[in-house]
Amino acid sequence: MDMHHARAVVTAALLALASPLAAQRPPLSAGARVYVRVDTSVVALLNVRVIDGTGAPARENQTVVVRDGNIAAVGPTASTPVPENAVRMDLAGKTVLPGLVMVHEHLFYPAGPGLYGNYTESFVRLYLAGGVTSMRTGGNMNGYAELNIKKAIDRGDKAGPWIDATAPYLNGPNTFSQMQTLRTPDEARRHVNFWADQGATSYKAYMQISRDVLRAGIDEAHKRGLKVTGHLCSVTYREAADVGIDNLEHGFLASTDFVTDKKPDECPGQGRGQQSVNALDPESPQAKALIAHLVQKKVAITSTMTVFETFTPGRPMPPGTDVLIPQLKETFDRQYSQVSRMAQSIYTTLLPRGMALERAFAKAGGLLIAGTDPTGGGGVIPGYSNQRTVELLVEGGFTPAEAIRVVTLNGATYLGRADRVGSIAVGKQADLMIVAGNPAERVSDIRNVELVFKQGIGYDPAKLIASVKGQVGLW
Ligand SMILES: [Zn+2]
Repeated sequence: MDMHHARAVVTAALLALASPLAAQRPPLSAGARVYVRVDTSVVALLNVRVIDGTGAPARENQTVVVRDGNIAAVGPTASTPVPENAVRMDLAGKTVLPGLVMVHEHLFYPAGPGLYGNYTESFVRLYLAGGVTSMRTGGNMNGYAELNIKKAIDRGDKAGPWIDATAPYLNGPNTFSQMQTLRTPDEARRHVNFWADQGATSYKAYMQISRDVLRAGIDEAHKRGLKVTGHLCSVTYREAADVGIDNLEHGFLASTDFVTDKKPDECPGQGRGQQSVNALDPESPQAKALIAHLVQKKVAITSTMTVFETFTPGRPMPPGTDVLIPQLKETFDRQYSQVSRMAQSIYTTLLPRGMALERAFAKAGGLLIAGTDPTGGGGVIPGYSNQRTVELLVEGGFTPAEAIRVVTLNGATYLGRADRVGSIAVGKQADLMIVAGNPAERVSDIRNVELVFKQGIGYDPAKLIASVKGQVGLW
């Protein structure tokens, strides 16, 4: 066989291998392509520090080869061959991490009391810019808007993370203008099936749901292979675990298990629940018993410390508020200074208490995952707050590598996608973020995002942010 023929055979074989993988990656629209900096079939990241998402220590001087959207090789630069046709990127002094996989994200913002308008367009760009390549929305206020943008991203029409799109909330009688009231188990079953038919891929139960309605919703979702999380109040964590809920939001700060005069199916108020949790010693038998029960029932817990931080006096101004339109920025600046001036706040002790409970849950073998929850009174900015989440997990006692695992592999594990994303390993999808510096030593370096790969396509965070700066609040 002559050389020319051999090469033709090899090329044909490579094409045959490449095509099924490439087919999973849709062609990008011209509108999405504006944000792309690297789009070539083979890229080699050289001399880079790898934090792989498993919690393992950082590895220095590595080479990561990306081929057709997947990770083809990872190893020491000295001994890892680089394909001849690769685009080579020298990343000395930089770190590659898995793209973030976060589970309490939203495509709306508390623009004013009770508004929660649709901000899908700007938010998905900010999430991607911040390194988020997969996310679950933790509640849907705008019905089809969330499902449609998920589909548009999947088609390649828009730049953004892969989205597990929640259906509109499962809730009982409530005062939100966008929320359904589900009074019977039958209504819950219909709601679940209707939204699954429209393309929703998960559910979130909310504060006023009854145990029977929740049980029916979970049962119906599970029949369709879909998961349910909850920001609960009327139902305790233990009760929800017993009816099969998959996940509970806001760490332990939405638990009403320790409210002494709690009546079944009634929300005693978020504040009452939080007072009881504030008084709870993580080492107490009651706390340990609940944690053990959740671990045994395989209920994941979502940490959302970024939203609680905005209620806590003495905390730094959250990052990224300059992307907001002036009116929204002023609204948050006012809230920030009001919170700063508070002589007393339960969050001063509740924030560290919540962190300690999450740490105890993880130590007990529970699956801790994380999200930002851009609600509250504002100031939780997509992308920026995802990075802040990692800093807050480290403040709560996790090592940087452990904290990064919470926001990468743990999220992917919960979503049932750990075979594709969530860590840097050969064969997985090339969802990666490159940051300047070393977050394993100085966690705040996670803010220095320089490039975000999703399925091997490198997006420019600066361009994504510039496209929405000063306009978040309009669309
Ligand atoms: Zn939320």
